[in-house]
Amino acid sequence: MSEAQSAGVHKNFIGGKWVESASGEKYRTVNPARPKQVVGEFQASVVQDADSAIAEAAASAPAWGKMPAPQRGSILFKAIDVFERRAGELARAITIEEGKPIADATGEVKRAMNILEYAAGEGRRLFGYTTPSELPDTAAYTFKRPLGVVSIITPWNFPVAIPVWKMAPALICGNAIVFKPASATPFAATIIAEIFEEAGIPAGVFNLVTGPGGSIGNKLVEDPRIGGVSFTGSTEIGTRIYARGAEALKKVQAELGGKNAAIVMNDADLDKAVPGIVQGAFGSTGQRCTATSRAIVQKGVYNEFMDRLIAQTKALKVGDGMDPENDVAPLSSKSQFNTVREYIGYGTEEGAKLVVGGHALEGAEYEGGYYVEPTIFTDVPENSRIAQEEIFGPVLSVFQAEDVQDAVRISNSVKFGLSSSIYTRDLVLAHEYINTVETGMVHVNAPTLGGEVHLPFGGLKASGVGQREQGTEAFDFFTETITAYIDYSASARERSRFI
Ligand code: NAD
Ligand code: MN
Repeated sequence: MSEAQSAGVHKNFIGGKWVESASGEKYRTVNPARPKQVVGEFQASVVQDADSAIAEAAASAPAWGKMPAPQRGSILFKAIDVFERRAGELARAITIEEGKPIADATGEVKRAMNILEYAAGEGRRLFGYTTPSELPDTAAYTFKRPLGVVSIITPWNFPVAIPVWKMAPALICGNAIVFKPASATPFAATIIAEIFEEAGIPAGVFNLVTGPGGSIGNKLVEDPRIGGVSFTGSTEIGTRIYARGAEALKKVQAELGGKNAAIVMNDADLDKAVPGIVQGAFGSTGQRCTATSRAIVQKGVYNEFMDRLIAQTKALKVGDGMDPENDVAPLSSKSQFNTVREYIGYGTEEGAKLVVGGHALEGAEYEGGYYVEPTIFTDVPENSRIAQEEIFGPVLSVFQAEDVQDAVRISNSVKFGLSSSIYTRDLVLAHEYINTVETGMVHVNAPTLGGEVHLPFGGLKASGVGQREQGTEAFDFFTETITAYIDYSASARERSRFI
C-alpha cells in the first residue's frame, strides 16, 4: 500500500495473507484535527476472524519457536531497516489518525525502533542460569521456552510504540502473535504489519485483526490456544481481562491508567521544573499514560511557580499536529473531547479555581477538530474528581504542600501508581520521596514522562498488574522458565526422598 492509498480500504493480516473480515463489515477512522477527513476503512472483525488468526498463529508457533533465536533476531533487524525507510510515513499516519504533534509522532516511531534494536540483540542472550546441584555429577540449569501464541491488545494513544514494545520481545522469545490494535488507530497498525511482512516474518507468526475490543476481546483472552495476554489500556477493561485470564490460569500483563504527580520543593530549579511540568501536562495533549496531571508545590515557591507556569502555558500554540509550529494538538476522538470538557465542568462545580484555559476551541479555523485549551486548576479539593480520576487530556490540577512528607502523601492519595517526579536539589528530600512514593517509576529533576526501553516500565496499585514491560522483565513475561536436572553419574545411586 502506498501513502496515496491511505484513504482506501485496509484488510486484516492473517496467516501471511491480507484478508477481509468474515463479517463483511468495515468501519472508518477520521482525522481528529478535521473530522471530515476519513483516514481509511478497516475491517470490523468478529470472533471468526480472531479464531482464524489464532489458528494460523498456533500452526506457525512451533517452527518459529524452534528457529534459533539469533535467526529470529535477524528478521527483527530487517524490520528496523524497513521502519527506518517508512519512518516519516508512519509518523504522519500517527498524527492524522491519533492527532498528536508530528514531532511527538516522530519520537514515537524512533522509540519503536529502539525497542526492536534492544529485542533483536537479545536473540544472542535470552539467558537462563546454571547453578551447582546438591548432588554430585548432576547438571542443573534453567532455560526459556516461548508461551506459544500471545495476544497483544493495545490502546490508541501510542499506536506504534506500545504495540512494538510488546511484539518485539514476544517475537524474539519465539512466540507467534495476534495483534488487536485499538479500534481508533488501525492505520498505524496496518503499516506495522506491512513492515513485518516485508522483513520476512514467516506466514502466521504475525497476525493483525482490527475492530472493536468488545466483539473479539474475550476470544483473544479465553481461547485455550492462547498462552499469554499483554494488554495496555484502561483500568476498567484491564481488570476484566486480568480476571478472565486468571480463570484460565494464563499469564497476563496489564498496564493501566495513571494520575501522575510532579512535586516541586522550595529549593527546586524552576528553569527545569516549570518546562518539565508544562511538557508533562500538555505534551501529546495530555494523552499519555505518564502525563503529569497533578503538580504538588511546596508553599514557599508556590507564587513564583504559578506565575511562570501560567505564562508558559499561555504561550503554547494549539492547532493541527501536522503543523510543526503547534505545541498542543486535538484530543484523539469526539468521546475524549467530550470527556475532557465534562471533567473541566466537574472541576468548577466541585470548587476548584480555573486559572488558565477551560474552553473548547471552535470556529471555522478549527474545522470541527477536537481542540481543548491547555487548562490549569488551583485550590483543587483533594477528594474531587479532577484530583482523583484519570482525565487523559490537557488538564493540570495544582496543590500546595507543607513539606516533602505532605507532598508525597498527596501524591499517594489516588488509586493509581504509574509514574511521578520531584524537583529538588536536596538528596535527603529526593530519597525521602523515592523511598515512599507509590509509583512504579520515579523521576528526580525530570518530568513524569517516558522511560528507556532497556529498563522496566509499569505501575503499582490500579496502574498495572503482572510482570513489567520492557527491560529484561519483558523476556521473562513472554517465556516460561524450564528447570533441567541432568544426572550424568556413571552408575545408579540413592535418590533424594524429599520432593
Ligand atoms: P481501553 O481500555 O478502552 O482499550 C484498550 C484496548 O482494549 C483496545 O484495543 C480495545 O479495543 C480493547 N478492548 C476493549 N474492550 C475489550 C474487551 N472486552 N476485551 C479485550 N479487549 C478489549 O483503553 P484506551 O481508551 O484505548 O486507552 C487509554 C487508556 O490506556 C488510558 O487509561 C491510559 O492510561 C492507558 N494507558 C496505559 C499505559 C501504561 O503503560 N500504563 C500506556 C498507555 C495508555
Ligand atoms: Mn477507551
